[in-house]
Amino acid sequence: MSTFKAIVIDKNEAGQRVEIRAFDEADLMDGDVTVRVSHSTLNYKDGLAITGKAPVVRRFPMIPGVDLVGTVEASSNPEFKPGDAVVLNGWGLGETHLGAYAEKVRVRGEWLIPLPQGLSPLQAMAVGTAGYTAMLCLMALERHGLSPDRGPAIVTGAVGGVGSVAVALLAKAGWHVIASTGRPEEADYLRGLGAAEILDRSEFAGPARPLAKERWAAGIDTVGSTTLANVLSMTKYGGAIAACGLAGGMDLPTTVAPFILRNVALLGVDSVMAPKALRIEAWNRIARELDHDKLAVMTSTIPLDRVLEAGRQIVDGKVKGRVVVDIA
Ligand code: NDP
Repeated sequence: MSTFKAIVIDKNEAGQRVEIRAFDEADLMDGDVTVRVSHSTLNYKDGLAITGKAPVVRRFPMIPGVDLVGTVEASSNPEFKPGDAVVLNGWGLGETHLGAYAEKVRVRGEWLIPLPQGLSPLQAMAVGTAGYTAMLCLMALERHGLSPDRGPAIVTGAVGGVGSVAVALLAKAGWHVIASTGRPEEADYLRGLGAAEILDRSEFAGPARPLAKERWAAGIDTVGSTTLANVLSMTKYGGAIAACGLAGGMDLPTTVAPFILRNVALLGVDSVMAPKALRIEAWNRIARELDHDKLAVMTSTIPLDRVLEAGRQIVDGKVKGRVVVDIA
């Protein structure tokens, strides 16, 4: 029997149990490429899976982990051969398909993209789903025709993973970035990433007025709920907000006023099922545009056996920036 080390979530009548244990290679799911994983990351969704706080996991046993970088070990897919360095984000990994907190995965080749040139395996996971989603949000704002001359851009949940990368990417693209956070003690960190102004997130805690004073032309929202509702009501005429997250709640207590009276657009962003061409474009732009020094500042690295503790911390909003999981 050939086994590898993995974090495994099991569920029975008593509830969910999570542990690190040997996993039998014969129990891997179908796929045409086997990858030796070197690094994974910690995303909010991984925290939800580990804690069982939301029904992210759709089959048991499950190996959580939505992101990986690694080396192809075996492949019957003509696009990949042993030794290729590859990246995978989403596609149901850690939800419906055995995931990345493991020394080995077996996946469908069409889910893989080559490790982008200019990024090391560790840097690719420092970016991870969070960073690639931040880029998808920026691209959505640009597709909407927005540019920095239209006014400031707001980022909510700015100290988190998506938020930190969003601040750095928007600043690099020339935006005046307003970073909203519940951690004012991290103001210097956010300024270091490129934020021009820091806003206390308590401003967005209460119910939103239909329309409020116009403050920004664009935004990347990772929080949802009253935060997104307030952000929309303060968006300038013709502006847009890219919404990707629910760290503050899944509801959206807004009115149609910003949409029908200010021509504001709400742009939905999903990373999990994003088409391959869009993924490759996003990753190539990250490789070119994300400052490596800023990426290093926002990144910490943990071993596999600290993932359970870190998973609990991320759902409590206590993780700063990006967390890489060192597996190899
Ligand atoms: P993090 O936990 O790293 O960041 C979330 C941030 O949101 C926190 O750091 C905190 O920022 C803020 N926050 C947390 N709780 C609350 C709250 N109750 N009220 C207001 N603000 C809060 O998570 P990620 O960056 O990994 O993910 C952010 C969100 O984006 C998650 O909801 C995640 O599910 C979603 N996501 C969606 C993707 C998609 O494909 N659509 C892909 C990736 C992520 P601060 O301390 O600065 O206030």
